[in-house]
Parts: sequence; structure tokens; C-alpha cells
Amino acid sequence: MPRFEGKVALVTGGGRGIGKATVARFASEGAQVAAADLAFDDDVDGLRLETDVTQRAAVEAAVARTVEELGGLDILVTCAGIIRDNLVHKMTDDDWEAVMATHLRGTFLATQAAQAHMTQHGGGKMVLISSVSALGNRGQLNYSAAKAGLQAMTKTLSIELGRFNVNVNCVAPGFVSTAMTRQTAERVGVPFEDFQKFAAEQTPLGRVGEPEDIAGVIAFLCSEDASFVSGQVIYVRGGP
Ligand code: NAD
Repeated sequence: MPRFEGKVALVTGGGRGIGKATVARFASEGAQVAAADLAFDDDVDGLRLETDVTQRAAVEAAVARTVEELGGLDILVTCAGIIRDNLVHKMTDDDWEAVMATHLRGTFLATQAAQAHMTQHGGGKMVLISSVSALGNRGQLNYSAAKAGLQAMTKTLSIELGRFNVNVNCVAPGFVSTAMTRQTAERVGVPFEDFQKFAAEQTPLGRVGEPEDIAGVIAFLCSEDASFVSGQVIYVRGGP
């Protein structure tokens, strides 16, 4: 029997990149899936919910529509994210606020709305998406702070929601080939292929990540095989 048969998953940022691959992975293993995003690639599976995760009403509506139209909510994955990179002396208030609003407020709103349902319906699984940048990364003062914050949120959510049978874990990817890393290559003025080659050379496994590499670990954490795993941060970066 497929691992996620009878389950309903909601993926924020599910319109492209890692989120889209996660939606596809859940769908391929039997789940009903909703993707909440500002925009969607043509080939996104499942229910598309146009949602700005920084807005409370929009996030609550996305969770409500998932429950109404797909019949419940068992899994939440928060992939919605942006970068506004700059060195500290050039970082603007807008750079700071936009990144905090999308990652921290967006994840706060989505996990709060999801837990309201999960705690009343026997439990669920949540996976938050951090980054190796949480360990510090030049030009990412805002993003690294937000991604470290998501690791802390994972721990606190796992403590508060454990008694309701909700597992909360965090995946922290390294370099993954998506529009986000393409944007970084453009900013530093390096062709994307060269940028990927450089990242692969820095990676013990000798390659960069693909969205499917991350989706597979997210799916594992949402599966019954990981039912005693909670509050953990798993680095998925082709090395330590
Ligand atoms: P991506 O840019 O391809 O996808 C991010 C998605 O989030 C987009 O579809 C975008 O529309 C959506 N989004 C942005 N702001 C939103 C908002 N306010 N409301 C709703 N949706 C919004 O990037 P990705 O690489 O797939 O990133 C997915 C997640 O993984 C992000 O949280 C990112 O920080 C994280 N991450 C990525 C990498 C990487 O190397 N690509 C590494 C570590 C962590």
C-alpha cells in the first residue's frame, strides 16, 4: 500500500522548486496534496491555493480549503521562501523585513493554523525547511537568522505539540538547483552552470542537490518509519 494513501498534505511554496518536488512525491505515494503559493509552474500536482504566507487570512483560508476540499490535514510542509541577500552594511529594512515575514511569520501562521486542526484530529506531521545558511553565510544576515529561527521553532513546536501526536521536524538543505540558487548566481554574476560546478566541488558527494533529494527526506520524516522522530534538524547537503 502506498505510504501516504488516505493522507492529506499541504505544502507552502509548493508552486515550484523543492516545494513542487515535495508535492509530486506525496502525490506519487498516494496522498491528496494542496500547494499554497503566489504562483505555480504548469506541472504542479494537486489543489492549487493562491496564498501569500505572510498574510494571516490567506494562510487560514488555505488550511480551511485544504480541509474542506481534500477532507482533512495530516501533513504540513513549509517550503515558501525568498532571499534578499546583501552584506550587512548594505542591507535595507525591506531586505530584513521581507525575509523575516516570509520565513518566520509565514511558518508561524501556517503551523498555527495546521496545529489547530491536527490537535483536534489525532495528530499529524510537520516539516519546516531551514538551510545550511543557519550556520552562517556571507551576504545572508537576514536569511541565516530566519533559517536558524526555523530550527528553534521546530524544537519548540515539537515540545508543545508532542502530546497531541504531532511530529515536527526540520530539513536543512545545502545547495539545491532551483530558481533560488539561480538567483544567487545572477547576483554574483556567475553563469549558473559554473556556480553549480563550484558548489559540487565543495560537496563531499561531489554533486549539488536536486529538489527530489530534499523531497525524499521530507517524505521519510512524514512517514510512519519516522514516527518516533521529532524536534530534529536533518542536514541534507551531500556531506556533514
Ligand atoms: P524557489 O524560489 O524555487 O521556491 C520558493 C517558493 O516559495 C516559490 O514558488 C515562491 O513563489 C514561494 N514563495 C515565496 N514567497 C512566498 C509567499 N509570501 N507566499 C507564498 N509562497 C511564497 O526556491 P527553493 O529553492 O525551492 O526553496 C524552497 C525552500 O527551501 C525555501 O524555504 C528555501 O529558503 C529553502 N532552501 C533552499 C535551498 C536551495 O539551495 N535551493 C537551500 C536551503 C534551503
